Amino acid sequence: MYNELNIRNRVLMGPGPSDAHPRVLKAMSTPLIGHLDPEFVTIMDGVKSMVQKTFLTKNHLTFVVSAPGSAGMETCLVNLLEPGDEVIICINGVFGGRMVDIAERCGAIVHKVEVDWGTVISPKDIKKALDHCPKPKLVALVHAETSTGALQPIKEISDIVHNAGSLLMVDAVTSYCGLELKVDDWDIDAIYTGTQKCLSAPPGLSPVSFSDRAVKVLENRKTKVQSWFLDLSLVKNYWGGAKRAYHHTAPVSSMYALRESLRIVLEEGLEDRWRRHKEVHQVLKTKLEMLGFNYLVDEKYRLPNLNSVFLPEGNDEALVRSKLLHDYNIEVGGGLGAFAGKIWRIGIMGESCTLNHVNMLISALEDIKEFKN
Ligand SMILES: *Cc1c(COP(=O)(O)O)cnc(C)c1O
Repeated sequence: MYNELNIRNRVLMGPGPSDAHPRVLKAMSTPLIGHLDPEFVTIMDGVKSMVQKTFLTKNHLTFVVSAPGSAGMETCLVNLLEPGDEVIICINGVFGGRMVDIAERCGAIVHKVEVDWGTVISPKDIKKALDHCPKPKLVALVHAETSTGALQPIKEISDIVHNAGSLLMVDAVTSYCGLELKVDDWDIDAIYTGTQKCLSAPPGLSPVSFSDRAVKVLENRKTKVQSWFLDLSLVKNYWGGAKRAYHHTAPVSSMYALRESLRIVLEEGLEDRWRRHKEVHQVLKTKLEMLGFNYLVDEKYRLPNLNSVFLPEGNDEALVRSKLLHDYNIEVGGGLGAFAGKIWRIGIMGESCTLNHVNMLISALEDIKEFKN
């Protein structure tokens, strides 16, 4: 029971975590320092600046929540919402549904825009929702729905939301550092992401950014934020300001890892990284289709980095997936919700987005006796 950990080197091609670069793993073994050590404050400043660069934003209130992507989601909602606020939340998969749950716990009145899983929300859908709820405090969307593999266009919805006087909130957990994402250009007011998808860092941290418009909403709150840990009026004194004050003990080693992964992203260049995800996706797509797989999402709205595909007929998906993991050390994801037992979710994110990964997966499939194509 208390044996030495003996984890085999998996090839991570599911919905996250993705493979970490050896430089990131090495950074995690850097000696610990105190979370208020001037050296650590310098590291935080560097991380903040790199998060601004990768979000393509100048937002002052840009920081990292010491918890995974779901806590970034919760940070945005608990800070912006007060009891009785009306909001519009778009649902086309698991994560929109999770936003609704959090918003309702904040006491908000939620108007849902629901479309079929695997499709995206259109500007028309938003306009229709605004007919019923003309002045919502915010409209929330998931940019890359990891449960279905759908890519939600954001820019074309942004103006509609702002013309209604609302804030635009976006989940960028799976798109960040893998697909085109421009926070300032698209006028996003509240955005959160995670570290373990296209950034290829270990899970457990959530970069977040608020526009000045969102900061004003924060400053005008009438009630206290429901969560102590996620209350930005307290957290922001730890991430900025002339005098850093203790709020909580930051996960120092994870911050080292995040810093290194951001350095790697900036060395590659955001645009080149977006292009790599598209190019490797094209190769994977061609090979999967040759084996008889079919995509769930329409080509126009398909995520390149999260391929949700139906297996060729006559396959026991759980059996083949378990063979991949146990005999070939390759992890792919199963389906969620209505797609459980029906689709696979094949991730090519960050360090897992290489031709080598594609070839390993395809040749393993060709090798598995139980796989029928
Ligand atoms: C993974 C994911 C999350 C949640 O992130 P965790 O780090 O698992 O908490 C939220 N939204 C989307 C779109 C995701 O893919």
